[in-house]
Amino acid sequence: MFALQNVADRELVIGDIEPPAAPGPDEVQVRMKAVALNHIDVWSWRGMAFAKRAENQIPGAEGAGEIVAVGKNVKDLQPGQLVAIYGAITCGTCDPCLEGRDNHCTAKQVIYGFHTHGFFQELINVPARLTVVAPDGLPAESAALAGITFGTPEHMLFDNAKLKSDETVLV
Ligand SMILES: [Zn+2]
Repeated sequence: MFALQNVADRELVIGDIEPPAAPGPDEVQVRMKAVALNHIDVWSWRGMAFAKRAENQIPGAEGAGEIVAVGKNVKDLQPGQLVAIYGAITCGTCDPCLEGRDNHCTAKQVIYGFHTHGFFQELINVPARLTVVAPDGLPAESAALAGITFGTPEHMLFDNAKLKSDETVLV
């Protein structure tokens, strides 16, 4: 299957890689439909020192796709559903994760396309709990933005700034 790969500083190629194995018990396998370009991808492409990307790193921290297989413990998702995928792998057991605030995970977070291979590939296995089913009719291109492009300002406005429905925001 194809995957976009950083093979050297500022050199991207469309490579041919092995498809993933069947999803693990708590994972879903997703056929990627849309992937956004995030500044993290640019950092990785530039080979910035702190990125220390893996060899042939696959970029992509924001993506959405169609579920094609589910692990044996996954009961609330099914093949054919369009899902947005959270851009990081979190522990799922710390207090923030249990409150649904994975962006505050106290364990080490792994960011797709930065610390591990990202979404610019045909198929990927991801933790089922880190996906959200897209509403009917939502294009994959919009769903792909849910995790970071939409999630970041939502977090800043409603969690941090406590924005209320009668208040105004200057953009
Ligand atoms: Zn956590």
